[in-house]
Amino acid sequence: MLTGKTAIVTGGTRGIGLAIVKKYLENGANVAVAGSRQETVEKAVAQLAEYGDRVMGIWPDLCVPQEVAEAFASVKEKFGSMDILANNAGISSRTGLYDYTVEEFSKIMDLNVKAVFVCSQAAARIMKEQGGGVIINTSSMVSLYGQPSGCGYPTSKFAVNGLTKSLARELAKDHIRVNAVAPGVTRTDMMAALPQELVDRISAGIPLGRVGEPLDIANAYLYLASDLASYVTGDILHVDGAAMT
Ligand code: NAD
Repeated sequence: MLTGKTAIVTGGTRGIGLAIVKKYLENGANVAVAGSRQETVEKAVAQLAEYGDRVMGIWPDLCVPQEVAEAFASVKEKFGSMDILANNAGISSRTGLYDYTVEEFSKIMDLNVKAVFVCSQAAARIMKEQGGGVIINTSSMVSLYGQPSGCGYPTSKFAVNGLTKSLARELAKDHIRVNAVAPGVTRTDMMAALPQELVDRISAGIPLGRVGEPLDIANAYLYLASDLASYVTGDILHVDGAAMT
């Protein structure tokens, strides 16, 4: 479904990001795995050796425009185009308001929102020049309801929805589609950090009767990146088993 396309996946070293990387590679794309540290990126790329030259690693600071622009240019240089950006990197926290520091709030907003802006801008500049592309952001089911502690995380995901819808409208004229995937509770390191009691309570309330797997989310990323979604932009695609909590 993606043969001849090139994708960049931020936070591609593990969890949902690694599942997206594998799904894109299986479907013929060239993929750049973007992570925060050279060591973890190289480890992830080594695990994907079966895909040979179709994988590369980059590790720019996602909040620094110059570093991101140079890294994205290196991807275009290697593969000849830059067609898909999966803004997946994100961090969470459940600290209650009374203990929440400004530093913690800023850290979440930096990676979950500012980095999405910086990466989208860098990618859009390349995509506009080459005639189009696809940007897919990572929202969350908490972007509908908020959550009862850790206010920075849902706030950041509401912002991701706003950025997604705004950029979809702004970039449509440049043939760049912008959508977001909003996962429910998904089995990754991020979920492992949640108290089991909370995971059990959430799972029990999910109509499809289970938490999501990274593959469930990666399948949505494949659809939105592909031509099957050629008339879909500005959408927040919920992949959460109809969870309402
Ligand atoms: P994870 O913790 O397993 O992986 C996060 C990824 O982000 C890792 O690859 C990590 O290296 C990367 N990352 C962290 N800090 C970074 C930084 N400063 N610079 C670059 N990369 C950095 O998390 P996950 O569960 O796979 O989450 C991926 C995305 O899905 C996040 O945006 C998260 O908010 C979202 N999400 C997850 C769930 C869930 O239940 N797991 C639910 C809804 C949304």
